[in-house]
Amino acid sequence: MRLLPSPFLSPLARSADRWRLHPWAAAAGAAWADLLAVLLPTSCVVCGAADVSLCPGCRSRVRRSGTRPFYAQETAELLPRSEDEGGRGNGTEGEELPLRVLSAGRYAGSLARVLLAYKNHGHTDLASVLRPVLAGALQQAVDDVEGGGHGNGPGVPALVLVPVPGTGRARRRRGYHPLGLLLSALQSGSLLPAGTVLEPLIRPARRSGREVLHPVALLAAVTGGRSQKSLGRSGRRRNVYGTMTAGEPGTLAGIRCLVVDDVLTTGATIAEATRALRAAGARVEGAAVMAATAAPACDASNRDANPNPV
Ligand SMILES: [Zn+2]
Repeated sequence: MRLLPSPFLSPLARSADRWRLHPWAAAAGAAWADLLAVLLPTSCVVCGAADVSLCPGCRSRVRRSGTRPFYAQETAELLPRSEDEGGRGNGTEGEELPLRVLSAGRYAGSLARVLLAYKNHGHTDLASVLRPVLAGALQQAVDDVEGGGHGNGPGVPALVLVPVPGTGRARRRRGYHPLGLLLSALQSGSLLPAGTVLEPLIRPARRSGREVLHPVALLAAVTGGRSQKSLGRSGRRRNVYGTMTAGEPGTLAGIRCLVVDDVLTTGATIAEATRALRAAGARVEGAAVMAATAAPACDASNRDANPNPV
């Protein structure tokens, strides 16, 4: 993993070493996948076809579903404001715009089923179909940010890709960090957008023993207690508020970030990640996800929509 240029390598970044995506993480993921390939009954996670975890037809559908990028910020009510208020020609002066979130596709149909199988059912063998989806979202989001007037000029620091941290509970349950495995593989293959560095600057904050409720847990509506689905708008925000930290104020001053997550639902998780980064002095330029739960009206023709969303 490339380190931030030394002027930007804060004490926090060094302390974040324990969240670094070591090569062994990818190796462990591969070993895990091999084990699961033996243990899991093999059938297509989308259509149920025998003897393959994703049949060729469904693989093609996922590929198409994951290359329909759209900006999902208007449909996620809990996203924070953009730092470009009224900027980029999309708003009037003084208007508060939500943080821009580029989604590779819609969380529905085959893409949703593959994401769920990969994240929650041990199908790390599906990483190969998700890696290009994530890479495409990152490239589009970076192109947008760097085309917005904050680009890599002389003296402008590299854009830092900051993954949303998984919770200890989720990691223990899964045995791997889904987003981390994908990012690590992209980095190993030099497939991250040019001019970016990957740094896990955010870590979970200790807060009364509570852990972050991730949107996928929300979607599954299984949290063992209160699901975010059952909470109101302010309740969802409170449920994740203060669960992440990126260090003391000023430790990330001068650093430009793009938050990376897998699925966008209400935006509460990205909002908390953004809050933590900004509290440490970083500038958050936007976010990128592989799928978002709602699509703009122009995407209504998506025939891959799932009539029974998870
Ligand atoms: Zn299939």
